[in-house]
Parts: sequence; C-alpha cells; structure tokens
Amino acid sequence: MRQIQISQPVTGEEEWQATKEPLMTGWLTAGPKVREFEQLFAERHNVKHAIAVTSATTALHLALVALGVGEGDEVIVPAFTWVSTANVILYCGAKPVFCDIDVKTFNIDPEQLKSKITSKTKAIIPVHLFGLCADMDRIKEIAGNIPLVEDGACAAGAAYKNTPAGGLGNIGCFSFHPRKSVTTGEGGMLTTNDDDIAEYLSQLRNHGASISEEQRHHGPKPYILPDFNMLGYNYRMTDLQGAVGVVQIKKLDFFIDERAKWAEFYDKELASIDWLTTPWRDENYKHGWQSYVTLIDESKSPYSRNEIMEILQNKGISTRPGTHAVTMLSYYTDKIGINPNDFPGAMIANNQSMAIPLHNRMTDEDYKYVVEVLKGIE
Ligand SMILES: *Cc1c(COP(=O)(O)O)cnc(C)c1O
Repeated sequence: MRQIQISQPVTGEEEWQATKEPLMTGWLTAGPKVREFEQLFAERHNVKHAIAVTSATTALHLALVALGVGEGDEVIVPAFTWVSTANVILYCGAKPVFCDIDVKTFNIDPEQLKSKITSKTKAIIPVHLFGLCADMDRIKEIAGNIPLVEDGACAAGAAYKNTPAGGLGNIGCFSFHPRKSVTTGEGGMLTTNDDDIAEYLSQLRNHGASISEEQRHHGPKPYILPDFNMLGYNYRMTDLQGAVGVVQIKKLDFFIDERAKWAEFYDKELASIDWLTTPWRDENYKHGWQSYVTLIDESKSPYSRNEIMEILQNKGISTRPGTHAVTMLSYYTDKIGINPNDFPGAMIANNQSMAIPLHNRMTDEDYKYVVEVLKGIE
C-alpha cells in the first residue's frame, strides 16, 4: 500500500557533498559556511542582518534577551503555537500572557491583543503559523512602541504585503528543523534591520564574546582573548550545518512554488467536502506552505477528527493535529495556572485541526490518492 508521510525533508547528494569541505578543512563550528548561509538568508528575506543559531527556540530566547526581557516583564504570545514560543519567555524569568487566535487563520487575533497589553508588556511574539504571516499591520497599530518578535519558524520565504517574513517586526526567528521547508537538521536564524541589535545578538550566541573566534584567528595580536562583558550563551550553528543551509536556501523558492501548486490542487479538490475547511487565503499574503492544515467540522462530518485521522492512517496517509494549544499543556495548566477554557479558539484549533501531507517528496499520484481517500470518507 502507498505510504505517505506528513513531512519529509529533501536532502541528498548535494547536501552530502557540501559537508565535505568543512570536514576536510577542519573548520567545523561557525565559520565561512555559516557566514555564507547568513548572507544568502538575509538577501532572500530582504533584511540587513541574519544571525545563525542552533534552533528557532534558541533564536526566540536570544531575541527576548536582546530586548531586555526579564523578571517582572510580560510577553504576549498566541495560545495556539509550538510550546517553545512560550517556553522562551519562562527561560527569561518573565510571564507569558496568552492571547487567543483567530481560528480562520490560526494566527493571533489582533482584536483580542489590545486587551492583553499592560504597562509591563515588554514584547509581543506574533507567530506566522504553518507559513501564513500574522496580520502585522494591525498588530503594529495596536502594539505601538512595543517590540515585535516574529516567530517565523514555519515562514521561511513567506511574505506579507510584499515584505518577506523576518523583516516585519524588530527581530525575526526561523527554524531549520526537518519539519520546516528548508533544513539543516537542527538550526535557526535571527533576522533584524537594526545594526545594534544584530551586533548584540551575535555576541550573545557566542558566549558573549566581544570578538569572534574567526576574527581572533585572522587578527595580528594572538595574545588577545575576547572580553566578556555580558552573560552569553553557546548557540552557535556548526559549519557543517551552514554548508547544508547554503544548498537548501537556494532551493527554498522551488520548494515553496511546488507546494503552492499542490496546495491549490487540494483547495480545489477538497472544496466539495462540506465538513472540511481548507487553509485561509488572501492575496496580501504569500504563504510559505510549511504545512497544509485543514479544520474538521464535527457537526457535519461522518466521523470525529480523530477517527478520520485513523481512517487515513489505515490507508497509509499520515496526518497530524496542526499543532497544540500551549494553554492546554499540563505544564501550563498545572504549574503556570492557565485556564484552557479562556482560549476557546486555541481549543477548537487543538481539537479540530488536521494537517494533511504536503511536502517535496510527494508524487502527483500521492496527492491524487490523498484527495481520493478524503473524498471517499462518508
Ligand atoms: C518548529 C517551531 C518552533 C521551534 O523550532 P525549533 O527549531 O525546533 O526550535 C517554534 N515555533 C514554531 C511556530 C514552530 O513551528
């Protein structure tokens, strides 16, 4: 039987060859390949600076550190997102303030954002979930001078009103986990147009060192060790990953275009299923298509969402809930005291969303099979 995974990265000969150079030269940690990857990433996303780190989670953490988030501060975050978008706020000793989502877009609801802002709000993290940008103009209008950190983990190559993700807020954060559109195994990227923040972020990721290893290597004064005037972290990407990133980033638009074509196929073909809602679209948004996430209306569907997912699994098609409501996870309910019922939109998305396979290893026949099986559920 046909087996279709929910997601599968496209890596192969080229990526494998790319790792040869760092292995042969022995420059393994952040060096020339990471710098090249950063340059290509910055160019593609039309931002002045890109700073590579070990994951989107560490990128988000550093973004908050760079903005001075600490004890007594509040950071607003959508209730429906990957858990680490909220965890990083706790890493800083600050308080996550959850805002419900608009189930239509799965993104933070700007109308509800207003009521979450207090004098303690130090930052807002809009998430571009599944590759669809948050409504950044509305969010900026409401946020005023409060800094915005984009969680663009799913949104490499996405855009809002012709501005690429990563340049829509003060700092952007991206992921290169294998579930995202381009991958380096694990990996992340920070983006910003602010020179000072960029400088600060590069120091923070490298133990807080005031000069990089590479600068030291090329410098004329071998006795100089870097100074450390801040509490830094080791969040450096390796050059092995950088080398893979250089190959992958060049394929980003090809990957997105191909996914967009099949997303459109799904949209058209699945429109006739009255219990299934396809992802929201708008011409102001260029979707990054990290995932294709549908919503099941159980008042109309012949089976529950979970039963439908089981039926699909038995036919070789793997699916997943879009993501989780952080506000329903036991650490947040039990230890942080969040009441999940305060976030009904996130709860609906948690219980009724279903991502169906969309990735660049699927064949035409795979897509047609998914549609055929879905249409056959009655
Ligand atoms: C994947 C993801 C993350 C975490 O990315 P990592 O690189 O695995 O740390 C954070 N936020 C969102 C919205 C994600 O989808």
